[in-house]
Amino acid sequence: MCGVFGAVTPGAEPTEAAAIATLGLFALQHRGQESAGVAVSDGEQLMLYKDLGMISTVLDERHLPSLRGTLAIAHCRYSTTGSTIWENAQPTYRQGPRRSIAIPRVRGAFTLVILDQKRVIGVRDPHGFRPLVLGRLPASARVVGGPNDGTLWDDEAQQGWCLSSETAALDIVGAEFIRDVEPGEIVVLEPGRPPRSIRYAEANPKLCVFELIYFARPDSYMEGRNLYEVRRRMGEQLAIEHAIDADLVMPVPDTGAPAAAGYAEASGLPYREGMYRNRYAGRTFIQPSAGLRHRGVTIKLNPLREVVAGKRLIVVDDSIVRGTTTKKIVELLRKAGAREVHVRISAPPIYHPCFYGIDTSIETELIASTKAEPEIREFIGADSLGYLSIRGVLAALDLPYERFCFACFDGNYPEPVPYDAASRKFILEEPVSAADRA
Ligand code: SF4
Repeated sequence: MCGVFGAVTPGAEPTEAAAIATLGLFALQHRGQESAGVAVSDGEQLMLYKDLGMISTVLDERHLPSLRGTLAIAHCRYSTTGSTIWENAQPTYRQGPRRSIAIPRVRGAFTLVILDQKRVIGVRDPHGFRPLVLGRLPASARVVGGPNDGTLWDDEAQQGWCLSSETAALDIVGAEFIRDVEPGEIVVLEPGRPPRSIRYAEANPKLCVFELIYFARPDSYMEGRNLYEVRRRMGEQLAIEHAIDADLVMPVPDTGAPAAAGYAEASGLPYREGMYRNRYAGRTFIQPSAGLRHRGVTIKLNPLREVVAGKRLIVVDDSIVRGTTTKKIVELLRKAGAREVHVRISAPPIYHPCFYGIDTSIETELIASTKAEPEIREFIGADSLGYLSIRGVLAALDLPYERFCFACFDGNYPEPVPYDAASRKFILEEPVSAADRA
């Protein structure tokens, strides 16, 4: 999953590229919270700084003066392969000849930004499982510290460009969205030249539908759709598929909010916020251990008794993965006096693990793959439970099924998965045997 950002800022002051890349990365913090890093090039030398932790603890203004150059990339990590250790923080550095990049032979789900001395390169796998967009930086980013007379440089040679996992980060750095990097495309950004496009494989688009349901920011756009609006429409569909009489509709904050708003509108029931979320704790889903995940719920969510006590609640969330978080939320709401708790999920049940960048872990940990729906309802302690159907998701997207990966919902994996992939999270850290080396 992770967040990536790249920037080329010819003509700007020497720390501008690193500053823009860091600012863009802040807008992508939700994509990975385990580590963060920035690499820059001044055309001759590369400089890399990375560490474990949230972006704000790793990168601040003290680091900027030493990150000088007109090219920069930045990364925040969400691990699906490998431990949360400094060595696995990114960007990673390799010294080698240019020809060592052999992208067409790589299989699987990958969205990359690569920096060498002279270029920032963006790559999307042929399915485009993960998003990547191209943006044009505003004139203001180029005029700061520009030519000695301070005039605006507006010729092509001084044009700044950037690459980002999501359009929301373009908004934050003031860049204009130009287009998606296409699946199977390489985009090369070099100072003084317009972006170059290289098609290395035929596109077979299978964007992860979970990006639209849950993972990406609601103020981002994908497939020409604003994600808040997509999620609101998923809530409308959910109300059509799983109507029930209740006193109010509330979201599991924050990610359930757009779907809850859509549910409330379609059902005609009032919308209230029945829980307060502590925004200074990490996302439940993203934390790497089950123990932390469980404790995280009570750290982050607190019911508003005035809103929920004595009420029949429709509680809208965007997914149930292992079920433990939802169970805890239902418990908290009942403790706060809720009379009935009806759980509505704006996604289908997750039956299958993801091998393309989301750590849904192994099949036996997915509650929908081990329990039938009535058992899930009983496990989470809800009065009723309803999931949005795949057909409902597609109605909200208003796009064909074929454009997306739905594998964790229907098992239709677009890219072959090694039979033992689920048990090999640490494969790259295993000692290499003499036979393998040979
Ligand atoms: S398996 Fe699920 S989470 Fe993974 S890429 Fe496909 S839709 Fe997304």
